Amino acid sequence: MPFLTASRTQAGASGELAHAAAVERLRASYAAIPTGRSVRLAKRTSNLFRPRSRGPVERLDVSALDGVIAIDAVARTANVQGMCTYERLVATTLAQGLMPLVVPQLKTITVGGAVSGLGIESSSFRNGLPHESVLEMDILTGAGDLVTASRTSHPDLFAALPNSYGSVGYAVRLTVELEPVQPYVGLRHVRFGDPESAMAAVETVVTTRAWERQPVDFVDGVVFALDEVYLTLGRFVADPAAAGCEASSDYTGQQIYYRSIRQRARDCLTVHDYLWRWDTDWFWCSEAFGAQNRLLRRVWPAAYRRSDFYHRLVGVENRYGIFARLDRLRGRPASERLVQDVEIPVERTAAFVRWFTGRVGMFPIWLCPLRLRDDGAGAGAGGGAGASDGAGAGAGRAQRDTRPWPLYPLQPGSTYVNAGFWGMVQIATGADDGDVNRLVEDAVSRHHGHKSLYSDAYYDRETFGALYGGEVYGRIKERYDPGHRLTGLYEKAVGRR
Ligand SMILES: Cc1cc2nc3c(=O)[nH]c(=O)nc-3n(C[C@H](O)[C@H](O)[C@H](O)COP(=O)(O)OP(=O)(O)OC[C@H]3O[C@@H](n4cnc5c(N)ncnc54)[C@H](O)[C@@H]3O)c2cc1C
Repeated sequence: MPFLTASRTQAGASGELAHAAAVERLRASYAAIPTGRSVRLAKRTSNLFRPRSRGPVERLDVSALDGVIAIDAVARTANVQGMCTYERLVATTLAQGLMPLVVPQLKTITVGGAVSGLGIESSSFRNGLPHESVLEMDILTGAGDLVTASRTSHPDLFAALPNSYGSVGYAVRLTVELEPVQPYVGLRHVRFGDPESAMAAVETVVTTRAWERQPVDFVDGVVFALDEVYLTLGRFVADPAAAGCEASSDYTGQQIYYRSIRQRARDCLTVHDYLWRWDTDWFWCSEAFGAQNRLLRRVWPAAYRRSDFYHRLVGVENRYGIFARLDRLRGRPASERLVQDVEIPVERTAAFVRWFTGRVGMFPIWLCPLRLRDDGAGAGAGGGAGASDGAGAGAGRAQRDTRPWPLYPLQPGSTYVNAGFWGMVQIATGADDGDVNRLVEDAVSRHHGHKSLYSDAYYDRETFGALYGGEVYGRIKERYDPGHRLTGLYEKAVGRR
């Protein structure tokens, strides 16, 4: 099958040869680091939320590993470098009428980052999580070897990389599946009067892939209040008229996407604008920086209405604590960061939302349903039962088996709903920083859920091991990073290293 060389927007297009040279440089720089020194990727961007300790660390230059190597439009696959951002990958694939099966909402999330640190989006109810559409990846292991991992080659490493956060190796090249798109996504914002009825609707949509006789390709939702819950149901359309709209909307300028959910029942976006609808205002979090103030927004440069810019502002605050100091000077109580995404089984999500509202009371809450791919057949780490996924399934799909993803062991055949809440909560008198996060961790476990590890975590070592595949992780770590050159998962996630 012919491989079409992908176009790149900047000089130094990465082809196979350039990629091989970049990997060799990376291997050499890794080998040159004295054992015992901490290693970290020298990436320009990050979407990690927990602050990291500032001890001595060796940084691996991966700046030449951020491109698309090639798109195979026939097999519907993309061959990409590990640090390629979804923004770049999507720009390349949309030009060929294709998109990755799951595109995380923030533009600078990289393919390697989404696979090793997990990701989710509104296509996850039919396409699972980003790592489930990886066919093969080259991993620079902690031992310094370059290993090609797939469902049949080093399947243990292939299955354990998701949620390992660079603690056993770095993905430097990945082959990922793509699906065809149409030019627009038509939206229906459907309001529900309580979380229970919204979750019942999620179950219907996930099962039938339709709502009120119209097909559904994308689902997410927002809880503005317990009696104001919206599901946004998207479907590919050829033009705005097919979505019942006169024209497509633009939320990259003065209009703000999340507010539109409450204001209009139908909408239409280009597929590009749909995929990045949450990036412009970092969901709703840009409000903290004044970016939603009408006057300030008018003069706010468009190039800085992006999640990576807001993330940099948070980095400055984490480093210098300017707002925290001002709050102290004004005599305001200290606050705790509560920035989390958790996965709760759909049948318990309404109860979790009610618990969260009663105990924490932070709105809005983002909702996004997901199911591991291949209903009832497992997490898709190997060849076995035939591929059965629906919309957009491309040629050249690998067969899958029943092996779960051990470091983030969701139940095959079950529907989960991701709940995302991102903000600050006051530290009550007599309480400690972290106490509300600990309550949330406890509630997530009581509701049989799982918590992503991109932000703060407070578990003790034993609980953490039980939740995140401790025994399997130990074996993988010993096999692929026997010298423990890479910081361990617990030390990263809980120890903030
Ligand atoms: C506020 C917020 C909201 C979020 N919301 C979403 C969301 O809605 N949907 C979603 O999909 N995700 C979301 N995320 C999570 C995000 O997808 C993960 O944090 C992801 O790991 C970030 O990828 P990155 O490329 O920015 O990696 P980085 O932030 O640079 O790194 C994250 C970790 O992954 C490791 N890593 C990075 N690249 C590689 C690689 N190539 N190989 C191995 N390890 C690597 C790093 O060592 C590090 O430990 C959110 C994060 C935040 C902070």
